[in-house]
Amino acid sequence: MGQKILVVEDNELNLKLFCDLLRAHGFEAEPVRDGREALERAGAFAPDLVVMDIQMPYISGLELIEQMKADAELRATPIMAVTAYAAKGDEERIRDAGAEGYVSKPISVVKFVEAVAALLAAAAERAAAEPEAAPEAETEPCETAEAAEPEGEAAPEEPSDGEGSGEPPPEPT
Ligand code: MN
Repeated sequence: MGQKILVVEDNELNLKLFCDLLRAHGFEAEPVRDGREALERAGAFAPDLVVMDIQMPYISGLELIEQMKADAELRATPIMAVTAYAAKGDEERIRDAGAEGYVSKPISVVKFVEAVAALLAAAAERAAAEPEAAPEAETEPCETAEAAEPEGEAAPEEPSDGEGSGEPPPEPT
């Protein structure tokens, strides 16, 4: 099964178009017609990417993007916004809300798929660069630290701040 993409779009024709297009490219597409369900559905589906319409009844895509970016579980999931009214400043507002990508309607089929692939690739790179927050099941407690001989493959712990005498490590900028 391909990567999972949640498609949030109130317009039935666009929803079908996006989902058909994604499925034709090997993705597993999950349609969401009502933005009010988007967060819950995203939590259950655990998508690799979200395609987000901006103009929707009840709740705008911008609001949903902000809510997803404020959610610890969904924050890392890239969001590609799709909007019909690309007025001046729209793209900036969408990016300010936290969307990683932006495509204007009517979509170009090629650009749509390319943008999805690029966002997924960028997200995979980010995930590889920053080690994930320790997955609970795989981390072993270090209770036998004093007895354990360092194994060949085990990376040594970062040296504790012994010689710096309280000097904090430089903050990354
Ligand atoms: Mn819409």
